[in-house]
Parts: sequence; C-alpha cells; structure tokens
Amino acid sequence: MYFYGTTGVNNKGHLEIGGVDSVELAQEYGTPLYVYDVALMRERAKGFKEAFEQLQVNAQVAYASKAFSTIAMLQLVEEEGLSLDVVSGGELYTAIKAGFPTERIHFHGNNKSREELEMALDNRIGCIVVDNFYELALLKTICSEKDTKVNILLRITPGIEAHTHDYILTGQEDSKFGFDLQNGQAEKALLTALQCPHFEVLGLHCHIGSQIFETTGFLLAAKKIVEKMEAWKTAHSFEAKVLNLGGGFGIRYTKEDEPILPSQYVTEIIKEVKNLTEQYSLDMPEIWIEPGRSLVGDAGITLYQVGSSKEVPGVRKYLAVDGGMSDNIRPALYQAKYEAVLANKPLAKSNETVSIAGKCCESGDMLIWDLPLPETGEDDVLAVFCTGAYGYSMSNNYNRLPRPAVVFVENGDARLVVKRETYEDLIRLDLPLK
Ligand SMILES: *Cc1c(COP(=O)(O)O)cnc(C)c1O
Repeated sequence: MYFYGTTGVNNKGHLEIGGVDSVELAQEYGTPLYVYDVALMRERAKGFKEAFEQLQVNAQVAYASKAFSTIAMLQLVEEEGLSLDVVSGGELYTAIKAGFPTERIHFHGNNKSREELEMALDNRIGCIVVDNFYELALLKTICSEKDTKVNILLRITPGIEAHTHDYILTGQEDSKFGFDLQNGQAEKALLTALQCPHFEVLGLHCHIGSQIFETTGFLLAAKKIVEKMEAWKTAHSFEAKVLNLGGGFGIRYTKEDEPILPSQYVTEIIKEVKNLTEQYSLDMPEIWIEPGRSLVGDAGITLYQVGSSKEVPGVRKYLAVDGGMSDNIRPALYQAKYEAVLANKPLAKSNETVSIAGKCCESGDMLIWDLPLPETGEDDVLAVFCTGAYGYSMSNNYNRLPRPAVVFVENGDARLVVKRETYEDLIRLDLPLK
C-alpha cells in the first residue's frame, strides 16, 4: 500500500491515520465515514505558501472551496493563512459562518445571480472574478444601485488544453467559462470594465483544467496572458496588478499518477512570469493561485463496511459496501480511479481480485474495478484512499441515503466536524400532500 501523509499501520495491524486507529473510527462514528488527515492538509497549504515566500513574490493562495467546503475546513484554511474561492451563495454563506475574513474571499462562477452578487457586495468580499458580459452589466447595475466600488478580475479563456479528463477541461476555447483571448472578447470586456467607475480592475484570471501533472499548460497560459498585458498596457494604459493562474494541480490517486510537488509548480510559474515581465518591461504582478484538489484530495480517506458479495463465475467477483455514488460520484461521473485496502488488515497479502460496488440502484454505481484484496468478509472495513476532494462536496441523497459523517484526525485526536445525516434530515424539507 502507498502511505499518504500520516497514514501507517499500528501495533494492532490496523490502518492508522492522524495517530488514530481507523477501525475504531469506523466503530465509533459509523460508516461510510470521511476521515481527513489534518497534518497533511496543513503541510500542503504550507507547501504552496512557503514556495511563494521563498521566492519573495507577492501572492495569494486561495483554496478552491468547492473541493470540500465545511465550517471546520474553512476555519483550518483561515488558520493556515490562505485566501478562499467560492462559486456560489451557499459556499459564500459557509465561509461567512466560518468567520472567514471576507476581504480574502474571491467569487467565481459563470452564472452568478443578482442575489449572489448582492450578497458578495454586502459582505465586502475581496474580489469578484467576472466571467462574461452579462455579469459585467449586472454587476455594474448593482454597484451603481448600491453606490459602491468592487475589485474585479476578468476570467480569460487562454485557449490552452491541459492534459486531463475531457469533462474537466475548461481552458480551451470551446468552454462555457470566461472571455476568449483570441477572438477579442477579453479585450472588449477589459475596455467595458475600465470605463465603469464602480470597478477596480485588479487583473486577469485563468484556470486551464484539473488534475494536471505538468507545468507546461500553466507556463503557456502565463505567456499568452502576459503578452496581452503588454499589448493592453500600450493600447489602453492598463496595468494588471494581479495575475491569477487558477488551480488544477494534480495528485496521486493510483500508482499511475506521478504528481510533482506544490513548490515545483510555484517555482516554475514564478520563473516564467518573471522572465516574461522583464522581457516586456512590465512590473511583476501579484501571483494568485487556486488549489482545490491538491490541498485536500490525498488527505481524505473513506471508510466503508463490507457487505454482500456476488461471484459471476469466470467473470468477476463483486463486493458491495455501505455507500457508493451517493458519497463519491467521481467513479460514475469521470471513471475516476482509486486504491483501497482493508482497514483492519492493510498489509495482508492479496489473494483475489474484486470489484467494489456501491449500494445505489444503478449498475454504474461502482467505486473500484479489479482491486486486489485479501479474502474479505463481513467484519472487514474498506478504506478508500484519496477521496478528500470532490467526494463529500459532491455527495447526494440518491436512494435517500443519508450523507456520511466527517471526522478530522490530528496528533491522535479525532474530532467530528460534520454530523451524519439522519432520516429526519432527509425529510426535513418535504411537505405533505394535504
Ligand atoms: C475548480 C476550480 C479550481 C480548483 O481546481 P482543482 O483542480 O481542485 O485545483 C480553481 N479555480 C477555479 C476557477 C475553479 O473552477
């Protein structure tokens, strides 16, 4: 098995995380259970922050909270001194309830509503990343109604294809996000924004995709944007104070994935932007990045109780667990791959290959295909690694399954940070027919 963060095997032979026995966690809090290694999340946050500090570059590292947004999580992000990205009123509300300093919150999204924009302005958030002409006009109207000024970035589609899964490509021209750089939309948006007295145009933003393992895409995007910064300085006297290169840094889900360190991304991006700005005689802008997955993904483990199994002779053996696409939809949505072990005997030799099925009424509800495991029975607890990003945050109540609890572990202590949903919670919003 691969040891992420503080995972290890304790003297009972059980999988341990954050100094806590995972089998005991499953017993105490029930399953399915999300467990987060707090020390690893802190280490990742510091990895990004310190890389900028060492290079003495003004920066903001904003956690893309859509990866995993809860009050405790956002409080941890605040403790680590990061900024925060939100993409909806609900994420903004969570941040406000977590006491997150609103001046360090950035608001994204391709269809922010009037209500969401008003909420952002009323809470004086740090900046709004404007995605399209509709939003530009709407925000201008609301700002003049409220007679207020707001910091904005313009979201640019630089036309870079990052190597990743098609479903999560966002940097190519044919994208629902952002103002296109090639066809003049971005420049038109800039001119519109510069004419509006309610906007302080801080700079430009792009986000080229997700689960990216190379720096090439970021460097190409930086080059395209810095070239435009030069052109727009000459043509419109616009000088971008901020260059935001988004998130998308890849992590290790399985042995096929070979991520580079946070500091490597940062170092190469900075080097490139420094070179480019020197070449074009521009001031070095502040560099903002927006890691989501890479801050929380490999810090999360999901624990499941093993249940029924079914042998299809000569084909495969299905082993079912007490969760599935309701708590982790990524395998069904993106064919995402995971590794897993038995939490009660992680080092036992594998002697069969099984496919892990969820319990939802969909044939596509499979968590892992062809997983090598030791002989497995009812008393076993399955630990699926690397579920910290887009797992709980995409969880749902399909089949009216209650959402799992979430526990943070650190230095031998476990803390419940999200309660397990109850059946009562499931019908809380339902109203009777008569
Ligand atoms: C989703 C998203 C991110 C985070 O992406 P990760 O792949 O989780 O790092 C960052 N910025 C924007 C604008 C996003 O939409």
